[in-house]
Amino acid sequence: MSDSVGKSCLNCGTDLKEPFISCVECVSPRTFLCLSCFARGEEKNGHKSGHVFEIIKNNFSILEPEWTARDELNLLDAIYDCGVGNWYCSLIDIHVTCIYVYLAHIF
Ligand SMILES: [Zn+2]
Ligand SMILES: [Zn+2]
Repeated sequence: MSDSVGKSCLNCGTDLKEPFISCVECVSPRTFLCLSCFARGEEKNGHKSGHVFEIIKNNFSILEPEWTARDELNLLDAIYDCGVGNWYCSLIDIHVTCIYVYLAHIF
């Protein structure tokens, strides 16, 4: 049985499994990155490491029990509101930190 989602990483071409990264800014075509390539800041076909991203996943709260689905929605809203380069507005600073803690757990 495979939990592949039928998408491949922009950079390395590996079959993606959740969680993976979806670029919010590269929409034509939609750009996806595996966590390894995302963590290395890989850039390709116009995608830049500074682009706003979404984390596509089944369950984001396994390693960060205090992070609820609502927190995540708030984070995404804040990212959209703040835009690229303004992530560290006080509202979302702690949540951005949580993302890096989460990724650090994976690697
Ligand atoms: Zn990759
Ligand atoms: Zn992009």
